[in-house]
Amino acid sequence: MLDVSRIQVLIRGAVQGVGFRPFIYRLATDMGLTGWVSNSPQGVMIEVEGPKAHLDAFMIRVKHQHPPRASISLIEHFPLNPLGSSSFEIRHSAHSGPKHTAILPDIATCGDCLREILDPTNRRYLYPFTNCTHCGPRFTIIENLPYDRGNTTMRKFTMCEHCRTEYENPLDRRFHAQPNACRDCGPCLELWNRDGHICGIPENAIATTTAALKSGMIVAVKGLGGFHLMVDAANEDAISRLRERKHREEKPFAIMAPSLESVRNLCEVNAREEQLLLSPESPIVILRSRAGNNVAAAVAPRNPNLGVMLPYTPLHHILMNEVARPLVATSGNRSDEPIAIDEYDALERLGEIADLFLVHNRPIRRHVDDSIVRDLLERPQIIRRARGYAPLPIAVNATLPATVAAGAHLKNTVALSVPTDNGTSIVISQHIGDLETKEASGAFHAAINDLQRLYEVRPIVIARDLHPDFPSSPYAAGQTERVQHHWAHVLSCMAEHNLDTTALGVAWDGAGFGLDGTIWGGEFLLASRNSFDRVAHFRTFPLPGGDAAARKPKHTAIGLLYEILGDQAFDGSEPPLLRQMLKTNVRSPRTSSVGRLFDAVASLVGIRNEVSFEGQAAMEMEFVAAEDAEEFYPYAIRVGKPLIVDWEPMLRTILADARELIPAGIIAARFHNTLAEIIADVAERIGEPSIVLTGGCFQNRYLTERTVHRLKNCGFAVYWHERVPTNDGGISLGQIMAAARQLSVIGENSCVWQFLAK
Ligand code: ZN
Ligand code: ZN
Ligand code: FE
Repeated sequence: MLDVSRIQVLIRGAVQGVGFRPFIYRLATDMGLTGWVSNSPQGVMIEVEGPKAHLDAFMIRVKHQHPPRASISLIEHFPLNPLGSSSFEIRHSAHSGPKHTAILPDIATCGDCLREILDPTNRRYLYPFTNCTHCGPRFTIIENLPYDRGNTTMRKFTMCEHCRTEYENPLDRRFHAQPNACRDCGPCLELWNRDGHICGIPENAIATTTAALKSGMIVAVKGLGGFHLMVDAANEDAISRLRERKHREEKPFAIMAPSLESVRNLCEVNAREEQLLLSPESPIVILRSRAGNNVAAAVAPRNPNLGVMLPYTPLHHILMNEVARPLVATSGNRSDEPIAIDEYDALERLGEIADLFLVHNRPIRRHVDDSIVRDLLERPQIIRRARGYAPLPIAVNATLPATVAAGAHLKNTVALSVPTDNGTSIVISQHIGDLETKEASGAFHAAINDLQRLYEVRPIVIARDLHPDFPSSPYAAGQTERVQHHWAHVLSCMAEHNLDTTALGVAWDGAGFGLDGTIWGGEFLLASRNSFDRVAHFRTFPLPGGDAAARKPKHTAIGLLYEILGDQAFDGSEPPLLRQMLKTNVRSPRTSSVGRLFDAVASLVGIRNEVSFEGQAAMEMEFVAAEDAEEFYPYAIRVGKPLIVDWEPMLRTILADARELIPAGIIAARFHNTLAEIIADVAERIGEPSIVLTGGCFQNRYLTERTVHRLKNCGFAVYWHERVPTNDGGISLGQIMAAARQLSVIGENSCVWQFLAK
């Protein structure tokens, strides 16, 4: 007789809602093993019994043959006494215990579901809410863990006989597919006018929407994580109307294209970009526009790129099939507010923008925008992290105290550290946006509460920015740690690459409150175990009007010139108030910001004097930069502690070039080249072998690529952001890492546990 054993197996990670239990069921049954499998708040729990050798084989097959969308972060097993069980079963979920399961992001429609909705003989033909265990909504519908239908916004729909049979059959693709539904029992579409009255016949909603879009109307479409505003991407008038109504002057709009073939007509697409477009995350991918495509110029003014995505829900597939042309698909919001998720809220907020509303009655639990990704240095780089990625955690090897991080003021995300057995998972919220409106700060507080509630973590540390004006209302109880903005940028990139000791961080962006009360943004921070040393920074200059200068590159340029020329900086065209501010040193904080340096140079070479969105001038500098210019400008590095990078020799040469009518494209290229040269120079002087590039300036492709090549040629190990935004969307992650270092508790378990016991 064979030696029969029984083991208990606990599997943690992204393992719920991806067909894991049916996989275990089939595997155990195939192998003739007995026992059960169940979802629990800790993950997937299995008890399995059989000959010892078969159990070993079972464990190996679990690790290597699990469903493609699952990802195992931890698998443990313990011996039990054999019970002599006779079959293998799937048990109902257990509801108690600490929550260690990763919540899955939403997943784009899979190939099988797509085939069904396009097959006239299938019962789900053209049903817009089709899904299965391999695809469909997750994060946007979850109210509580574990991930069961009763804990989602689908609980108000009772499954019909047919759907229930699928749901209960372990061999069906829809076994325990929580949002499972069909036309007989699930959510349905309606087309509304601006008064919220149904337009036409509900069955014709898609056809009527299609006709409206083709005639140039703006339609608000309720999707997966919120509303889109959609309009024909080739219709110049319609897009101008959308810009006017939305108060969005020039910031590029994203496009949804009906097919990959259509994307190829719009843009250049390489194999990696193609993979991103077709991935289960299905993000907006930044691509280079093809000359002569018929996208209206107003979609992305003065921008050689387009942000393009493919349909990622059955509703989008059905609509795009009918419309059969690219549509603008931009967030359903008024300029800076969070995206609308509820149809009545949408009527209120988008009533003046959209002509029609294509809505449905599946509630969206939380807003999740489209993610934005691009191919950089042959790897994907996430620029906005939301649908498809959030809330998958970033795993770090250190044990950190339970911390909530409030993020940055712009492009806000919040984060929560969740202790695990072999380190810490840091859950970063979906993109929330700029905390400039009442609605945005509501979303900010909601996201903080949401994460704490879902993961049942009560933070003992709160990490927040140094800036005195940062919202500090009581979002959590605990000890507050204030974290310098650029230090958070550096640690964010280090955490992503699991660099746990030292590195030289190059943190360049628009603005962040500095330790000395000035505005930082051109920083070289040397990370040490528990702190950092500001080893170098750009020479500072006055910023007349402070934060407001971010909208006015011309004013920034005058501040920069005033620093080296004094009164000669004024030519009489500037507002007298501006002169006054600089001369009397009122409302003219000093800054070392490289982002502002970009703005100033953009204005001085005639690219633009005002911007309508953050970073616009720097983007246009990048776009005009000539590809083949190799020269760089002179600069000086003043020796001392810290080193001061003096831009004055560069600025004087730029002014001379401009006087000689050297084209802006050549000046822009030389300017970028100089910045890469400066980084290499400072890196050589500091001598730390690992260099981390972080901050909004490294959204600049030209700067990042050139700097990485330059540093690699000098033998440095270079790191840049890939999974977490290099802009302020990555700040919350860095704040969590910084708080732990500041408290000197990183990796020192005794200390952490003292904290946790409080
Ligand atoms: Zn599917
Ligand atoms: Zn049904
Ligand atoms: Fe920043």
